[in-house]
Amino acid sequence: MSRRRFITAAAGLTLASGTSAFAQAPAPALMTRASDSLMPRGKSQRVVILGGGWGGLNAAKQLRQVAPDLEVVVLERNPVFFSCPMSNKWLVDVVDSNFLTWDYLRIAEKHGYRFIQTEVLAVERDKRRVITAAGGLDYDYLIVSPGIRYHYEAWFGNDRRAAEATRARFPGAYIPNAEHYALKRALHDFKGGDLVMTLPPPPQRCPPSPYERACLIASLFQQKKIKGRVIILDHKDGIRPIGLGFRQAFEELYKDVITYVPNARISEVDPFNQRIKTSAGDFKFDHAVLMAPHQAGDLAWRAGTVGAPVQGRPGGWADVDPLFLNTKDDPRVFVIGDAVGFVSPQFAFYPKAGHVANRHAKIVAKYIAAMAAGRAPVAELPDNLCYMLVNTQPREAIAVQFDYKVNAQGIIEQTQRDDNERRASLVTEDFQWAKVMYEDMFT
Ligand SMILES: Cc1cc2nc3c(=O)[nH]c(=O)nc-3n(C[C@H](O)[C@H](O)[C@H](O)COP(=O)(O)OP(=O)(O)OC[C@H]3O[C@@H](n4cnc5c(N)ncnc54)[C@H](O)[C@@H]3O)c2cc1C
Repeated sequence: MSRRRFITAAAGLTLASGTSAFAQAPAPALMTRASDSLMPRGKSQRVVILGGGWGGLNAAKQLRQVAPDLEVVVLERNPVFFSCPMSNKWLVDVVDSNFLTWDYLRIAEKHGYRFIQTEVLAVERDKRRVITAAGGLDYDYLIVSPGIRYHYEAWFGNDRRAAEATRARFPGAYIPNAEHYALKRALHDFKGGDLVMTLPPPPQRCPPSPYERACLIASLFQQKKIKGRVIILDHKDGIRPIGLGFRQAFEELYKDVITYVPNARISEVDPFNQRIKTSAGDFKFDHAVLMAPHQAGDLAWRAGTVGAPVQGRPGGWADVDPLFLNTKDDPRVFVIGDAVGFVSPQFAFYPKAGHVANRHAKIVAKYIAAMAAGRAPVAELPDNLCYMLVNTQPREAIAVQFDYKVNAQGIIEQTQRDDNERRASLVTEDFQWAKVMYEDMFT
């Protein structure tokens, strides 16, 4: 058929069917009508949990145990759980992927809560309704556990291109899990030169873990005999927490590899030309782990829980009652884990740690159980324990512990104990800690 006759025939086909050959079919209803009810109401009161991470999963299991009459639904965008705790060790092959990843559906079935893999789009607080990509559902109690977002606006304003280039090429790998795979690949492909890490200003997710990451990357370079430098650009004036333990590791184990730069406040990041300007000088890099400032995850904003800055501390975190963790405008809406904002004039924010998220989850589950049974909740406080691997040959770790109490003025006080002496026994404790934490969520 000549080209002209083919075009004519095709046009005839279009006319004969009365529509263009490229007309779109109507999308199936289950895909499109996000406001349709996802789950009908049963007889029980319903707790909807936004986010199936460290806070959300602990809350779901705990609620089923302390309030078995409540219906519990977890909404999570990811198909598989990927743990940030222990992920620095995975970057350098101390643990494998199976150690970090877990199956959501099996554990939901075992404990009798519903797990729905979907994107949460909005929360209609006035109607007590959550809108997801799979439909809407009503709640009696809401637990918001969205983790963090990167506040790229602080670096790039509204320049999405620069933000996305940074995320894609030099990810901070503080939000699971595509970024973690990208960073692992970059580290194992690294041929030498300067690898720069920008540390976010406080408050940030897991404050000691960037220093652990630096130690483990340095040890990888040593093992693979890569001529590389790890340059840490720290917003702070010194390493915190476990400062002495990390400083000793840097000096005694990685003197020629790690360069620590305090007071490095970022003024400009250029992911295209691989340059950073800071108050401590300008740096060019061959690769980088660009950690923008952290804020409460997008969902905390969509749920209308984020408040204004408090007492000069950075804003962007959920405004909650310090003891009961409910938003100040609604006793039935709780925020747990990293998204929680200012709680004390003494220490400002709880450490943004999986351990704290675990404790918040258990505490809030008890609050909801009490409220649903018509009782007043009794305030409880979390604790925090964190181990950091600083040496791989031999394996040695350091640690930090935090405890909390309410003082006579009703203010939450924090006690911090750094364990700076690196030793093998703390590595054993770290793996025991992870086992207990995983069991809490997954067995
Ligand atoms: C490298 C690294 C090392 C760490 N090491 C430790 C450690 O040793 N010890 C420790 O205690 N803590 C550690 N942490 C911190 C720990 O990971 C966090 O504190 C913990 O994950 C916080 O729990 P969360 O529930 O607040 O947030 P997350 O665990 O991040 O859970 C949030 C969930 O919400 C989901 N979500 C977000 N938005 C939506 C949406 N719109 N729709 C649907 N789902 C959504 C996310 O996919 C995610 O699963 C580490 C973190 C990092 C990055």
